[in-house]
Amino acid sequence: MPKYIFVTGGVVSSVGKGIVAASVGRILQARGYKVTAIKIDPYLNVDSGTMNPYAHGEVFVTDDGGETDLDIGWYERFLDITLSKRNNITTGQVYLEVITKERRGDYLGKCVQIVPHITDEIKRRIRLVAEGNDVDIAIVEIGGTAGDIEGQPFLEAARQMRLEEGFENTLFIHVALVPILKATEEFKTKALQHSVNELRRIGIQPDAIVARCEKPIDRATRSKIALFGTLPESAVFCSYDVEYVYEVPLILEEQGMGVFITGRLNLSWRQPKLKEWSDIVTSMKNAKEEVRIAVCGKYTKLTDSYVSVREALIHAAAYAGAKAIIDWIDVEEFELNPERVNMLSRYDGILVPGGFGQRGVEGKINAIKYSRENGIPFLGICFGMQLSVVEYARNVCGLEDANSTEVSANTPHPVIDLLPEQRNLENLGGTMRLGGFEILIKPGTLAHKLYNSSIIRQRHRHRYEVNPAYWDILTRAGMIFSGMSEDGRRVEIIELPNHPYFIATQYHAEFISRPGKPEAAYLGFIRAALKRRKNLESYNKSKYVSISMG
Ligand code: GLN
Repeated sequence: MPKYIFVTGGVVSSVGKGIVAASVGRILQARGYKVTAIKIDPYLNVDSGTMNPYAHGEVFVTDDGGETDLDIGWYERFLDITLSKRNNITTGQVYLEVITKERRGDYLGKCVQIVPHITDEIKRRIRLVAEGNDVDIAIVEIGGTAGDIEGQPFLEAARQMRLEEGFENTLFIHVALVPILKATEEFKTKALQHSVNELRRIGIQPDAIVARCEKPIDRATRSKIALFGTLPESAVFCSYDVEYVYEVPLILEEQGMGVFITGRLNLSWRQPKLKEWSDIVTSMKNAKEEVRIAVCGKYTKLTDSYVSVREALIHAAAYAGAKAIIDWIDVEEFELNPERVNMLSRYDGILVPGGFGQRGVEGKINAIKYSRENGIPFLGICFGMQLSVVEYARNVCGLEDANSTEVSANTPHPVIDLLPEQRNLENLGGTMRLGGFEILIKPGTLAHKLYNSSIIRQRHRHRYEVNPAYWDILTRAGMIFSGMSEDGRRVEIIELPNHPYFIATQYHAEFISRPGKPEAAYLGFIRAALKRRKNLESYNKSKYVSISMG
């Protein structure tokens, strides 16, 4: 029988509740327990696929084709497991199911209500994931903060689960912000106290509290939280700011969280094995070299829009013994003033990530052209791959005004066009080419060298593809299609010869990157970037020597 750990939030959202949930999972996994994690998003969207990443952060794609919340990505990275779309539960899914059942007549004669029908459906979904995966512990993170209208049915379902599963099989962890008042350097716990009260009002007494704070809280603050939260001090933890989020399991373990949770859930005592994890964290923190990467995208003000890309760069850099210094470049700058693209010369690598729509496209194309012509290591992801094809068609194949039909419906050269099965779609939600598919890699290519395999599996999220009508023109002009879908009908990887590193993929390689296990295309990119950096350094040195000698 699985045990359930519910993680709730207080005071404000986006304080790293997902990281705490993932860290708790890691701590338990380190003791040999089988863990899964579920994210509950109380919004009415069925999934996050139709939401703007600028407002909500990245859409994380699961192997089974779910468009999920970015916290699912944190769980996968921290726990090194592959989750399903079922691990992300939304209000939209729950209501859709209940209303569909009602229309079918499943509840004939009954008045359909939030309690019990909605709460039953929530519990059914949580248990389905936990029992279906045969885990020892399921961590259930409830999005938003205690007191949100949308979150109420989920908290109510969690409260009921305590009654149904029993005290020893359920645990509530409340994560809340503790701000520090600048003027007096005081830790302020009042807001946290209020959010604990909010939970109690609906019948949940937290078993543990994690104070999310800039700095480690002091003893007095800890006892105050314990007193007002009706907890022993040993149940109060602090998640303070760290350089890399991967440190959080280590700092929580150090504070005794593993011992506390296993004791409270009556799990047998086991020595945690966190050595490998802490070695990875050390490799990130102690890396001597630096590698400067420009990510040329659109949603650059909220770096959470590209969280998996950022983390994949961090994993690859750490593995190669370097720190990734990532600058988020708003490509619209290169549109207003194309000269500005020259600023990219100071970077060791240029990455153009996935995206949608017309805005910023010409800026991205300028950035791609710059990296191609100046031999700067380049990695293109999804839209970044499609625009690399557009750039090549225009500037190498001489196809004037070539474009993707997503950007210009009437382009004379639609080198990127809708996937055939995408024509005449009625619904835009959940209908892209989604999730994991096999890719065949051509021997003798850079891709083959990177992956050291003829077949890989990667995750997708797109509607457009390289138009087969242009395959011939592109390849005759030197572009190499080094990866194809299994049926040979889709281009998955393109690369250019006579360039230090120019590779672009239709898939999102970042989704399968893990700390300590970087993804091959990202690792190759970082290694090429490091090489460029070293060459530049020795070039600059020789320049300096010759100047000073002159
Ligand atoms: N907009 C492009 C498509 O739909 C690329 C999508 C993406 O980058 N995820 O095919």
